[in-house]
Amino acid sequence: MRLAAVLTDLDGTLLDHGGLLGPEARGAIEELRRRGIPVVPLTSKTEVELRDLLAELDLGMIGGFENGAGIVGPAGVVVSDRVLDIETLHAHLEELSVLTGLPLRPVSALSPTELRRITGLPRTGIAAMLARRFGIPFLAPGGTGNELVLAVARLPGVRLTRGGLFWHLSGDHGKEDALGLLLRTGLVERPLAGLGDAPNDAGFLAECDVAVLLPGPSGTVDPALAAAVPAGRSAPFPAGRGWAAAVSALLREESR
Ligand SMILES: [Mg+2]
Repeated sequence: MRLAAVLTDLDGTLLDHGGLLGPEARGAIEELRRRGIPVVPLTSKTEVELRDLLAELDLGMIGGFENGAGIVGPAGVVVSDRVLDIETLHAHLEELSVLTGLPLRPVSALSPTELRRITGLPRTGIAAMLARRFGIPFLAPGGTGNELVLAVARLPGVRLTRGGLFWHLSGDHGKEDALGLLLRTGLVERPLAGLGDAPNDAGFLAECDVAVLLPGPSGTVDPALAAAVPAGRSAPFPAGRGWAAAVSALLREESR
């Protein structure tokens, strides 16, 4: 199979803890570039963060932002018709707080010091993270996941996602919607390889021709992700090192 593109999650998949690109992953990106295979990030990050990373990693101009809220391409931005704006989402978050009786704190209500402590991001990184147009990251008390999931099911057109640090409330879109937009606009073609490490990657991974699941720092693949993508193969290491090993294996199979 001659791969047409590699779709990838960023944090914990292509990037190591702290958002860094390791030497192995950098080498694998260069090998893909030599072969003319584009690397297309599908991320929960904002459009601003995505554009910064596309430039910094020299990945080209294509990617999906805010969990499938939209895509960037050479001709500009295309936004999914499933998005909800921030005002609507804040109203839904309040509704969710009432339905569950839980104190839910959106990132916009956290102090810069709290945000730096939680995310480990520098001041500039925090500004980019807050430039969110189609989703609200929020904190909920520990162990309340089931209550949140049940309550969100009563809010039509709204999706709840668990990120590494925050819960996210958004319109009912996921990274699979970004993939749909990329295919429809002709920005990517099949066959596609996809790599991800978390349940919010399952939607697009299930639609890729080859899916690679990255283990977490403990060395095991997230069980919810593994269950949602049964055809997925596991990378041998977490994050960038595993990404590079999995991509090398795919390229070896390709040239066979
Ligand atoms: Mg991830």
